[in-house]
Amino acid sequence: MSIESSIAVGIPEPAGQPYPYTRVELTEPDWTRFPGWRDVTAEDWASVQWQRAHCVKNIKQLRELLGDLVDDRFYADLERDQTERATMSMLVPPQMLNTMAPHVQPSGPGSLTDAFYADPIRHYMLPVFSDRRTDWPSHPHATRDSLHEHDMWVAEGLTHRYPTKVLAELLPTCPQYCGHCTRMDLVGNSTPTVEKLKFVAKPNDRLTSMLDYLRRTPSVRDVVVSGGDVANMPWPRLEAFLDSLLEIENIRDIRLATKALIGLPQHWAQPDLVDGLGRVAATARSRGVSLAIHTHANHAQSITPAVADAAALLLDAGVRDVRNQGVILNGVNADPHALLDLCFALLDGARIMPYYFYMCDLIPYSEHWRISVAQAQHLQHQIMGYLPGFATPRIVCDVPFVGKRWVHQLADYDVERGISYWTKNYLTSIEAGDPQALERTYEYYDPIHTLPAAGQAWWASHADLDDSALRAAEVAEASRRTAALQAH
Ligand code: SF4
Repeated sequence: MSIESSIAVGIPEPAGQPYPYTRVELTEPDWTRFPGWRDVTAEDWASVQWQRAHCVKNIKQLRELLGDLVDDRFYADLERDQTERATMSMLVPPQMLNTMAPHVQPSGPGSLTDAFYADPIRHYMLPVFSDRRTDWPSHPHATRDSLHEHDMWVAEGLTHRYPTKVLAELLPTCPQYCGHCTRMDLVGNSTPTVEKLKFVAKPNDRLTSMLDYLRRTPSVRDVVVSGGDVANMPWPRLEAFLDSLLEIENIRDIRLATKALIGLPQHWAQPDLVDGLGRVAATARSRGVSLAIHTHANHAQSITPAVADAAALLLDAGVRDVRNQGVILNGVNADPHALLDLCFALLDGARIMPYYFYMCDLIPYSEHWRISVAQAQHLQHQIMGYLPGFATPRIVCDVPFVGKRWVHQLADYDVERGISYWTKNYLTSIEAGDPQALERTYEYYDPIHTLPAAGQAWWASHADLDDSALRAAEVAEASRRTAALQAH
């Protein structure tokens, strides 16, 4: 799934390499190809207010934009997914929608249907019912909060999972909602299938509790400031939080997590905001703290000049680095060429560092997106050697109760049943009194449809939670109790 439409510059490498690298020039697709945006000016397009006001939030708005260029069956498919499967509500900024079927010129009713069905960005931003698997739509071990982040909250929204770093979920909203969101338990609006959890404490009280915890926990040196997406927090409040973080002596790394750099780059190009980020970056530099931006692009089509321009503004404002953490998804990028195309578009076109690719987490209704650990290992192998070492992303599995592990780090692997076993070398915040935590193995589960026939048959007769699942549920329950005690 390579960038068919990118313009090659320079002379292509001789044929023969499994991946033929060619330098590509980024292009902004022409938004006026969609009937609803026929009269939208470049000035409108560059305006973050216009972008936010014209996000597509429901099928009616999508119809107003695309009209009959897409067949009714697509809209019906989308509607059924919204009703019966979707774990995230619909929210797609124009910038992102414009990267779907970017170079197909509409030529009458229905002419965009096939391109929309096939499109990689559409596959994860506007999932349709027919994308999902019908044999195993969810893995039996799939759960909301599959990474048990809530269980590891040391203050509401502050996950302390690794020894020296924490994740601060400042808010539960984003400018765009991705169908595969791992925080589907909390982030976004409720859907017919998922009633979202809500933060209980007032926003300011939550941030104060987070800062208090960091002040009294000198072993934490690294804070991922996330959400949701920090682009949805009014800048003055975000700047005040960052200033407070920078006053805590033990904090040496701050990373701002924002997919908006990809989905709504107009946000990060606002002059006031760039100035503000420059102030924070200057303070960080003067205190020897690294301030970086972490973003989330899954396909080369997303990397357009608007994204590159916004990334340049952030780098010029003084952030140390802009890094990408993508998710490997079938139908989007689970292919070495697609991953390399994306990495080169990020690196050559936008000065964004390819950093991680995560395997899609074990959340409900994600089986059609997920790949097996063996497939992930193959992808890692296939992308080695083409990029500079410092820009070669690691493909990681986020193992429940463990954390990120490079896909080759597993301790054991039952390939027939698709169960991999992982160990860890640190305690999470909920295991202080558990001497076995570093001795036992932790399981991760491949999608059942990828297994050999014998493995699929085994799952067919063990679809109810087995012993390991019950044990995981007990551990989760115990951890919730511990977290509740710690929170008080
Ligand atoms: S931007 Fe991140 S947090 Fe927001 S919906 Fe997408 S994956 Fe989830």
